[in-house]
Amino acid sequence: VQRGRIVAAAEVEQSYIMIKPDGVQRGLVGEIISRFEKKGFLLKGLKLFQCSKDLAQEHYKDLKDKPFFPTLINYITSGPVVCMAWEGVGVVASARKLIGATNPLQAEPGTIRGDLAVQTGRNVVHGSDSPDNGKREIALWFKEGELCEWESVQTPWLIE
Ligand code: GDP
Ligand code: MG
Repeated sequence: VQRGRIVAAAEVEQSYIMIKPDGVQRGLVGEIISRFEKKGFLLKGLKLFQCSKDLAQEHYKDLKDKPFFPTLINYITSGPVVCMAWEGVGVVASARKLIGATNPLQAEPGTIRGDLAVQTGRNVVHGSDSPDNGKREIALWFKEGELCEWESVQTPWLIE
């Protein structure tokens, strides 16, 4: 409600961020969530979830002709993932910067992949690549009622 007065609703976007099975297995859930929390984005949805092959294939449908597609689907379905919806102005591009390059060896130090991973096939986290894909992916991974509408008391201390 208050945010509506501070920034125009049209500027606010959402990104689907997912901690992949290696991030969960390696005990990096808190570390990764913490980076988005500390940056100042707003968490609107969060769940631990074991996804089906069908859902993984739909999520990565643009990559279905790539040679690594079958191994990618095996990887994403190999254990629970943490599904998140993060909201804010510019969150999609900013989250991609926080995450770092697809290949963790090329990702800058200070990014999640740059700090916490060594291989493309185990790069610990996903982030939407456009606001439209943010919408598409959040609708794909979350059911009606799973997102929370709330305002953070921090907002006036984050946005002038
Ligand atoms: P992202 O947007 O940075 O996650 O990268 P892409 O959209 O290009 O690819 C999606 C995911 O597929 C990556 O995060 C990796 O997990 C996986 N991937 C991409 N390229 C390769 C590859 O060459 N080999 C393998 N094994 N996995 C890949
Ligand atoms: Mg991508």
